[in-house]
Amino acid sequence: MTSFSELGLSQKVLNAVEAAGYTEPTPIQAQAIPHAMEGKDVLGIAQTGTGKTASFVLPMITRLERGRARARMPRTLILEPTRELAAQVEENFNKYGINHKLNVSLLIGGVSFDEQDRKLQRGADVLIATPGRMLDHFERGKLLLTGVEILVIDEADRMLDMGFIPDIERIVKLIPFTRQTLFFSATMPPEITRLADQFLHSPVRVEVSRAASTATTVEQKLLGVSKKDYEKRASLRDLIRNQADLKNGIIFCNRKRDVSELFRSLDRHGFSVGALHGDMDQRSRMAMLKGFKDNKIQLLVASDVAARGLDIPDVSHVFNFDVPIHAEDYVHRIGRTGRAGRSGAAYTLVSKPEMKHLDAIEKLISTEIEWLSPIPEAGSEEDEKDGRRGRKERGSKRGKRDRGEKRETPVEAAAETVETQVEAEPEAPKEPETRKSRSENKPENRSDSRPDRKDRKRRDNDGPVPVGFGEEIPAFMMNGQ
Ligand code: AMP
Repeated sequence: MTSFSELGLSQKVLNAVEAAGYTEPTPIQAQAIPHAMEGKDVLGIAQTGTGKTASFVLPMITRLERGRARARMPRTLILEPTRELAAQVEENFNKYGINHKLNVSLLIGGVSFDEQDRKLQRGADVLIATPGRMLDHFERGKLLLTGVEILVIDEADRMLDMGFIPDIERIVKLIPFTRQTLFFSATMPPEITRLADQFLHSPVRVEVSRAASTATTVEQKLLGVSKKDYEKRASLRDLIRNQADLKNGIIFCNRKRDVSELFRSLDRHGFSVGALHGDMDQRSRMAMLKGFKDNKIQLLVASDVAARGLDIPDVSHVFNFDVPIHAEDYVHRIGRTGRAGRSGAAYTLVSKPEMKHLDAIEKLISTEIEWLSPIPEAGSEEDEKDGRRGRKERGSKRGKRDRGEKRETPVEAAAETVETQVEAEPEAPKEPETRKSRSENKPENRSDSRPDRKDRKRRDNDGPVPVGFGEEIPAFMMNGQ
């Protein structure tokens, strides 16, 4: 087994790693760090939870020991798709950089430009940024990228999903060709392979096996459910209540609208629950995440974009309220549990129309996931043809299933009778306030030839969306943070 001391890291960094309590490198760290230390480009194929952040942060800190930052000319640049991920990477620099005096600047949306400007002016050793906000600073003439020695592109496949690839291509053109590039992605669809070929020079490819890392520690199960939301919610409640070893869990929905709805429903039914979706402001999201990390709330309802890459150690359960439309999202979702060798459970609720998405997932992970119970056949088609009869049956069925539970309010029940026909889609890209400020990024100004245009438009049309929690702000958020 490799030890940290064999990877070529400096003594100061090794001391910080020891202080962090890590005894041995994870596979991605053992494989990537020696090459990164030699100055080689690295293509790392790994998902969050594998220790991939330290695999670029540790060699970066070591390499930054030589030289000094100059005003407005960052020495290294890390691009992250979301603000939370950017903030998490900053935390990693704080943790592993305790023995260094590094100037780390975070350029993310939702924070004032002036404060970020002041930090840039002082000279940044490390710039951690989301693509939109970084280009905003560049366009204001506040930033020069000609001094960047190391570029990290993290979560490249998520960047693609969120429509950031044109921005990244622009940014990379502003950075000297002589840089070292470290490129990470959980999956390698053709578009990402093309980018890696374009950005990396003779890279060392390091891959952490996805199948092995999920199969060994995460117990995966499927639960057949009705496609009706109110029945799905009841099945989910039963499932949660039946988990003897539930410490905490994340519940994923495909649509942000469903995040709010499911959150309200679980809250009404007395669960300790919070929600996280891209339309919440930064402060609320951070507060929510803190509440979850501090075990003040047990269950977190989230959308893929909002939860992507969040470092929440020790999540015992993942529940997929919907089968994810993109198979890779399944891998990311269940990657929230079973981290760092701990065991975890991942349950996916599957209704009949979602079978096609399940097939794609099983193909991707080359595994047939075990069914706890089959999809219920009877009644559902009939119910749709005859709304009145459907409601009646629904009432009696619910009465049986929910015996002893609090009944849903009339408002919620009424909402449930309106079956939505909207195709489930992931939520819109984050940082709307940042992107709006740059006219060329407005969807209507984008050329149709842009690879992400169709995708972005689809997501932007996700129907009316509740913002934050409306009047239902969880108690812990009202008590200050
Ligand atoms: P990441 O994949 O970067 O999101 O890291 C996942 C989690 O693993 C984080 O909570 C890290 O603090 C933790 N971690 C990183 N490296 C190690 C290591 N060598 N040993 C144990 N835990 C680690």
